[in-house]
Amino acid sequence: MPESIAALIVAAGAGTRFGTQLPKVYVDLCGQPMLKWSLKAYDAVEAISRICVVAASPYMQKAREVCDSAIHSASWDVTAGDDRRQESVLNGLLHLKKDPPDIVCIHDGARPLVTPGIIESSIAVSREHHAAVACIPVTNTIKSVHPDGAVDETLDRSRLRTIQTPQTFLFDLVLKAHQRAVEEGWTVTDDASVVEAMGHPVMASEGSPENIKITTPQDLPYAEWLMRRRNPDMRTPAPRVGHGWDLHRVAVGRPLKLCGVAVECERGLDGHSDADVALHAVTDAILGAAGMGDIGQHFPDTDPTYEGADSGELLSEVLEMVHDSGMAVGNVDVTIIAAAPKIAPYREQMRARLAELCRIKQECANVKAKTSEGLGPVGEGRAISAHAVVTLVETTKYTNSRADDCDE
Ligand code: MG
Repeated sequence: MPESIAALIVAAGAGTRFGTQLPKVYVDLCGQPMLKWSLKAYDAVEAISRICVVAASPYMQKAREVCDSAIHSASWDVTAGDDRRQESVLNGLLHLKKDPPDIVCIHDGARPLVTPGIIESSIAVSREHHAAVACIPVTNTIKSVHPDGAVDETLDRSRLRTIQTPQTFLFDLVLKAHQRAVEEGWTVTDDASVVEAMGHPVMASEGSPENIKITTPQDLPYAEWLMRRRNPDMRTPAPRVGHGWDLHRVAVGRPLKLCGVAVECERGLDGHSDADVALHAVTDAILGAAGMGDIGQHFPDTDPTYEGADSGELLSEVLEMVHDSGMAVGNVDVTIIAAAPKIAPYREQMRARLAELCRIKQECANVKAKTSEGLGPVGEGRAISAHAVVTLVETTKYTNSRADDCDE
């Protein structure tokens, strides 16, 4: 019979230290749920024919979806975990026992940076020694400190290791050890400890300083950086740029509003809405950067709803859609071209209003003015036009993680 190797991915933690409602293994890391990265690494190891995920019971369906999108070679299934990691692992082992593998790699779902190489070296050590733990040398000096604060001793750093996962065992050995732990009431924080407690030797295998466990949200930017460095095709996306242009006729008896600011002038601008030509250009630039069409598509001037509409409100509506798709304005630059009136006295007020509408800092909003030198309809004072350039940046998705993906 060929040797069979299974991976048991422990993903049942509530992630209370993480501060999101969603368990941390489903939090976004470089555009994918964190769990997916571990699954992909295990699926890439040829010797592994089966992957079992231990998930918190309200998230079983979510875990199945992640497995389905991540695992293409191995067979997989999902089983329910328990409150403590130790119990979750035992649940997973008992689930695997129905069709027991020879060897099992136990892995923390919150170590997304594990590599096929680390997994393979753990398997290789377990074949020879029956129990292997991935680990790395310790870089800090470690002292044992008495509860009263006094240093007991300085440990010999050359012999210390930080323990990671995978931890790989003969299946029967680790199952027996975990069952014994329940009988004897042993509480452990890793799987090798139960095997050690049985008196069975455990051998170190090669881990990596990059194989970090994501514990707090502060770990995510570093994990993202590591992931992007490994995968050059996942570089931080460049900001998206959009351009907008608009022109409105000058009309007597109409108010003049530019960048959401009322400007004193004998003549205003003609138009279906409040005719704020500058905000129309900005709105079109935002839609352009987002790849969402143009202002006329969203707010047709044939629709009486938008008669006299406040262009600031239309911009806000567009921004809601943009935010929902995970983007936000980086900066905005507007050029207003008008023979009259003078824009300079209103410039700071316009910047402030623009910044408020676009939800950016005032230094990220800019307003410029030109006269067109008396040339053409704008230069002759028959129309006012405006150009706008906007950048959109991707927003960090994990701050928006919601718990509405759960089964219940
Ligand atoms: Mg317009």
